[in-house]
Amino acid sequence: MSSAAPFELDASPALSRSTADRQESLRADPERLRARWPSARVVRMDDRGRVPVPERAFFGALDTGGAADSADSVDRADSVDTGGEAGAVPLSTTPAFDVSPELPDDAVFLGEWEDTDYWAVFDASASGARTVRVDSGWNAPVEIPVADGEAWVGLRVHGSVLDDTAAGLLTTAVALRNWHRRARHCARCGGPTRLRQFGWATICEQCGHEEYPRTDPAVICLVHDDIGVNGEHVLLARQPVWPAGRYSVLAGFVEAGESLESCVEREIREEVGVAVRDIRYLGSQPWPFPRSIMLGFAARAERGARLAPAEGEIEDARWVSRDRVRAAFEEHDPGLLLPGGTSIAHVMLRSWAKAAN
Ligand SMILES: [Zn+2]
Repeated sequence: MSSAAPFELDASPALSRSTADRQESLRADPERLRARWPSARVVRMDDRGRVPVPERAFFGALDTGGAADSADSVDRADSVDTGGEAGAVPLSTTPAFDVSPELPDDAVFLGEWEDTDYWAVFDASASGARTVRVDSGWNAPVEIPVADGEAWVGLRVHGSVLDDTAAGLLTTAVALRNWHRRARHCARCGGPTRLRQFGWATICEQCGHEEYPRTDPAVICLVHDDIGVNGEHVLLARQPVWPAGRYSVLAGFVEAGESLESCVEREIREEVGVAVRDIRYLGSQPWPFPRSIMLGFAARAERGARLAPAEGEIEDARWVSRDRVRAAFEEHDPGLLLPGGTSIAHVMLRSWAKAAN
């Protein structure tokens, strides 16, 4: 008999961390927001969704040993991919008055933190920047513009190096930006829309229909075998388009009219031909690329069952022991590259690997 408890997430996923109060009621109170504008801070975002952070803190968090000062390339393959600990890099925000003496029409209200309002503007850029290449742990290096002591970084690759406040503000800003880019026409009549409520709604100029930011639910499930409480092996799979050696747990979008549990059961069956049971919820994380929320689950399956990877979708699926997963988190294993620190899959796998059986 095992005395282990079912494993839980050992920390908030990187993009679920947040400290700011969204202050929803202020979105309908322009007078108060305008009055508070001169003391507010602004997150400047460029046309690729990148925002400035302090250069020194950022490259320090990547543990590059000062490479950013001496060279234009950072070759630490594991620099952003280990991501075990939540980061401590803040956002470089700008005093609102320096952005504009008056509240701009297109500024987006993110919320309040420590008596300061935070806003986002989406038309910024790093002028005169040089480019530093940083390994993304994925297919290609990421190019980071660096200028005036600031590095311009994106949420998807570098969300885990940000501090809690920065991660929360940036996740909200990216979600709103990505929604705005897809909400320029009315879903009812096709007419042009304009933004309202400081970025939190659109209204159709033709028919008056209002829309609010949308989120698509997706499930992601860690399937382990049925030995003991937490299993001895986890089911991992890889897609053909992923870099060699990359594996993760299975995930898929919730279909119209489908429950989360049914979706978990269907996705695992479709992708690897395995029946799962004892489906239980672990936690969630917004994934605004462009507008998902990942709902994390655990489930059990028989390790003896035949794996049947879906043709064209899953290149390989296999059961991997807890010891091998633990080792792959500790040091680089070219045959088992696990998901980066910004993903909920990373937290799920790390938490499972730590758990007793
Ligand atoms: Zn309309």
